[in-house]
Amino acid sequence: MQTSSWNLDRSRLEQVPCPLCQGVNFERLAATDRYNMGLVTVGCLGCGLVMTNPQPTADALDDFYSNHYRHFYSDFGPRDGIPTEAHIRACRIDRRCAVTAEFLVTRGELLSDMVVLDIGAAEGSMLKAVGDHVPSTRRIAIEPNPTFGRFAMAHADCEWHASLDNLRTSQPPPIDLVIINHVLEHLKHPVQVLESLKPLLSPTARVYIEVPDVLEYRKLTVLHIAHLYHFGADTLAHLATNAGFDVRLIEKHAPAKHPRSLRCVVSVSAGAAASADQPTAVNCRAGWDAVTACARHAWFAHGKRWLRSAAGRSRSAGG
Ligand SMILES: [Zn+2]
Repeated sequence: MQTSSWNLDRSRLEQVPCPLCQGVNFERLAATDRYNMGLVTVGCLGCGLVMTNPQPTADALDDFYSNHYRHFYSDFGPRDGIPTEAHIRACRIDRRCAVTAEFLVTRGELLSDMVVLDIGAAEGSMLKAVGDHVPSTRRIAIEPNPTFGRFAMAHADCEWHASLDNLRTSQPPPIDLVIINHVLEHLKHPVQVLESLKPLLSPTARVYIEVPDVLEYRKLTVLHIAHLYHFGADTLAHLATNAGFDVRLIEKHAPAKHPRSLRCVVSVSAGAAASADQPTAVNCRAGWDAVTACARHAWFAHGKRWLRSAAGRSRSAGG
């Protein structure tokens, strides 16, 4: 764990409307976060979505992911930022992905000869599990980090594109199954990204989405700069509907060595248009109490982080 000086000053923050209901009125739930960056977490008074607001600008996020992300999140990724099979096994990523592949096979969502796209594929463990369960699938990874993308190609025997735009220009075959596993909450414009997938999909395509469940938040560590949105079942369903998808399943899920989550399967809505005409969702403030409770214990979390970092400094000084 670290104490970095990366500065999130006001010039790198912007107030944004709620991406689900376009509301601009919010209730403040937390004014601190895992790294004590001064992030503010709010609940939308219109629809109940929990989100970071103000948010880092697109430029600030680019700077953060390009130059600082590995430093802050070194406890959560492979040593030296280079994926290895040992790290995948140690963090039980292989087991987590196998559980998801089994779930998709059991539900009949993952079948022979399908084209499967993983958005935010990291080192390719999910596509590896897909290939292990159904070898005849054609597998495509979207992963911005080239080290991870190249590792995925070998690890999962898949194609790799650095972005959805790159995939689009490659004129891919119609995609039967999209996997968005612990990625949607990182995206600045999650509705637009989901909506933009529709032209790439086969008529019977499914999208599997997994996100942390805001109702299960228990510690301040769940609030951090990489997660701009915090979904409950109601707001996740609202997002899918807004993007023009029908929710076929949404349920709680407890992945190994990962936060308690929601998993969701959606298909393109028969009525098609993503819409401003959707009925207004009821704001049930799901997860608001959980977030405020996490913030109440901030002094304890920051104290522990300070002690760990002081112990690290003393070990370095002692050689
Ligand atoms: Zn809203």
